[in-house]
Amino acid sequence: MTDALETLRHDVRAWLEANAPKDWRATCTSHEGFLATQRGWFAKLVEGGYAVPHWPAEWPGGGQGLAEQKVLYEELARADTPRLLLSFMSTYHAASTLFEWGSAEQQAKYIPRILEGEIWCQGFSEPNAGSDLAAVRTRAERRGDVYVVNGQKVWSTMGQFADKCLLLVRTRTQGAKQAGLTYLLLDLKAKGVTARPIHQIHGDEEFAELFLDDVEIPVADRLGDEGQGWAVAQSTLLSERGLTLLELSARMRGALWRIADLIRETGREDDAGILRDFGRLATRIDAACALADQFLANRIAGHERVGDASLVKLTYSRTLRDFTSLGLRLAGLEAQYHEPIVFGGGMETGNWMADFMNSYAWTIAGGSDEVQRNIISERLLGMPREPKTWTLAGDAA
Ligand SMILES: Cc1cc2nc3c(=O)[nH]c(=O)nc-3n(C[C@H](O)[C@H](O)[C@H](O)COP(=O)(O)OP(=O)(O)OC[C@H]3O[C@@H](n4cnc5c(N)ncnc54)[C@H](O)[C@@H]3O)c2cc1C
Repeated sequence: MTDALETLRHDVRAWLEANAPKDWRATCTSHEGFLATQRGWFAKLVEGGYAVPHWPAEWPGGGQGLAEQKVLYEELARADTPRLLLSFMSTYHAASTLFEWGSAEQQAKYIPRILEGEIWCQGFSEPNAGSDLAAVRTRAERRGDVYVVNGQKVWSTMGQFADKCLLLVRTRTQGAKQAGLTYLLLDLKAKGVTARPIHQIHGDEEFAELFLDDVEIPVADRLGDEGQGWAVAQSTLLSERGLTLLELSARMRGALWRIADLIRETGREDDAGILRDFGRLATRIDAACALADQFLANRIAGHERVGDASLVKLTYSRTLRDFTSLGLRLAGLEAQYHEPIVFGGGMETGNWMADFMNSYAWTIAGGSDEVQRNIISERLLGMPREPKTWTLAGDAA
């Protein structure tokens, strides 16, 4: 560790000691408390210059290298701060897509508002277009200066609380499925938008269905050209499968003390089986962190291969499941109590049953494990491609 990184770590630690919210688990057992905590913590981080280290240098708090970002994530985890679930899509998915594809006008219009707390969600998935994302059917018809959009989206994380949406729509039904897609920026307050929360198994409502009924979106709010939506969507997905996992992996490593504490509290320090599983987990978490680091270093150096991000995502989702299931096993009967849910939590709620159930979400969100394996085998290992047998209604057979 260089002197500059040591100084950064020292500064961040001191800043967190003075500013990190202390009692957030207690306040996040209601949606109102969750929203207030998330908004307050994000605003504090923006003020401190720590909210968007991964953004370019011209933006406040941006321009940090990989090593600096890691220090920050490690310290955020160490201080046990809430993860920024509400602004996660805004600062990662929306921002990285806007930086890559947005015009100067679009960046000037949208990026500062993210720092002011505007919330984005992602409207890609539909009831019959998840893994097969190219099967999107939500229709956008151009009428003069606007697109008129009709259709349904599903599983939009934080969609019921969001202001804006990254929307993938179909502008053409003929020809290759991918070539008919277009990427729009939707204002969720627009006429004709209905967001309905989806209730989950552990009691939370982390995502929403979006119904779009003759919604008008200005052509000026299109990212990329008409028909270029598939390529633009890849930027969003790459952020989801790569960059965000640097933070998540660092946080999982930072949360290992939860398991160590549990081993002590339950008197299992001499249990060889538990110690073996703990050792195995710690090693896997280290490997997940190393893989995420290497991925980003390769991306920055321009050496990224198609499929690398899938390796990172697959490793994270499997390791998270190991982490939460060891916690659940150790917590025993106590974990069976249905404690009040800490809304929007992941691995960090302290409620092992909720965390365990939530870990399954990561084996699906952003592309399921099975699909990541397909990508790895086809794109990285050069195995034969999976036969494609599907067609879109209206396609020529
Ligand atoms: C917590 C969470 C948050 C999410 N947030 C968002 C969001 O904000 N915005 C958004 O647009 N979407 C979001 N999603 C949706 C997510 O992207 C989809 O759930 C995912 O892509 C899988 O699609 P599907 O649910 O339609 O399942 P399907 O595609 O129907 O798959 C069902 C099963 O079949 C398997 N399968 C499908 N195709 C293949 C294949 N070719 N080979 C092998 N197995 C296959 C899958 O792995 C899976 O096990 C979220 C999902 C979760 C769980």
